[in-house]
Amino acid sequence: MHVTYWCEMAWLPPGEVVESVAVAIEGSRIGDVRPGVPPPPGAERLAGLTLPGLANCHSHAFHRALRGHTQTGRGDFWSWRERMYAVAETLDPDRYLALATATYAEMALAGITAVAEFHYLHHGPGGTPYADPNAMGEALVEAARRAGLRIALLDACYLTGGIGDALTGAQVRFGDGDAERWAARAEALARAHEGARDVEIGAAIHSVRAVPPEQMHVVVDFAHRHTGPLHVHVSEQRAENEACVEAYAATPVQVLHDHGALGPRSTAVHATHLSDVDVALLGGSTSHVCMCPTTERDLADGVGPARRLLDAGSPVTLGSDSQAVIDLFEEARAVELDERLVTGERGHWPPADLLHAATAAGQASLGFPDAGCLVPGAWADLVSVRLDSVRTAGATRASAAASVVFAATAADVHSVVSGGRRVVTDGRHVLGDAGALLREALAPLVP
Ligand SMILES: [Zn+2]
Repeated sequence: MHVTYWCEMAWLPPGEVVESVAVAIEGSRIGDVRPGVPPPPGAERLAGLTLPGLANCHSHAFHRALRGHTQTGRGDFWSWRERMYAVAETLDPDRYLALATATYAEMALAGITAVAEFHYLHHGPGGTPYADPNAMGEALVEAARRAGLRIALLDACYLTGGIGDALTGAQVRFGDGDAERWAARAEALARAHEGARDVEIGAAIHSVRAVPPEQMHVVVDFAHRHTGPLHVHVSEQRAENEACVEAYAATPVQVLHDHGALGPRSTAVHATHLSDVDVALLGGSTSHVCMCPTTERDLADGVGPARRLLDAGSPVTLGSDSQAVIDLFEEARAVELDERLVTGERGHWPPADLLHAATAAGQASLGFPDAGCLVPGAWADLVSVRLDSVRTAGATRASAAASVVFAATAADVHSVVSGGRRVVTDGRHVLGDAGALLREALAPLVP
């Protein structure tokens, strides 16, 4: 199928806004990009600024059920986690399919064309496997396809409730017993999706809290065997660091480094409370780091050293994580704005660096290195942002990137082409009223 779009403005490599760009699409790929041309006959016009597809590099789809219910009152990450577990207890594959489909539709409306789902809710109540032990993971893959996203399904190994502690309560649904049994189940999932280009089965070590170091190599080997992504929650909480140092005389980053879990296909999620050695190990191994600022501020986690990590060699990516907000423009500007608050200085992140984090760097960390860039041969993802809304009006070619990063919201995304398929037109998702889908999916789950 051939379709040509004509963009009023487009964000093209090496990171600049160009006017009057024709983008020809052949199937799921970009065939041709021609800047500075009038609209070709029959071309579909895309107003505003067209970006490559945004990548949401850290998602727990079911946390969408917590939005608005956990933002009041006192507490911290650990009290929030109890509410999160209560929602996890109510999910089964059908409910998960409905909730994830609606949540991913919300993501598509925000311009996200690929999601990394950090998936640990594997089993039924009491930890009993479903007839298909990957029924929950399959629900997530199906949800992404319905909503029009590529998915990196990061199957998380989750074995202990804390260092040396057995899983309790809702956590028993997360566990496979040991890493070998985790790998057997994850292998079956990978086999089921072998050859699928829109699905990447990757691995996750939930955290140093949840996987004993002597079993980490099994997860690392899985990621290597499949040349897939390997993601880990790292140093989100000071208490996690303290417990790790007490148990292993090493920080979480050092433990991961010592067990081969860092490298260019790895992503350290959060990376909030780091030592200088941690920054050097992550950067030196060119591991990605995924910042989730709207979640980190919601949970009172802290602010990670994003610019230092980038300068040390770690590509920075962005994630909506707890779904308190699904808006990668908000995540992107928060990376810069939070650093301003911490350092008392402005200008750590030019808009082009933040857009790179939201697009190409993120897509690569999900196992889609051929996405996130408007060039021939890349995945045909076109995300168009209004420049005539109350938030963005007044933008010029010179200011368009900064207007989008620092002032636009997800509501300004009016058109999304994902893998050649038009999934959002005039701000409406192809599945229809995404708000209604969310309401229906959330009704039985309110925490
Ligand atoms: Zn997370």
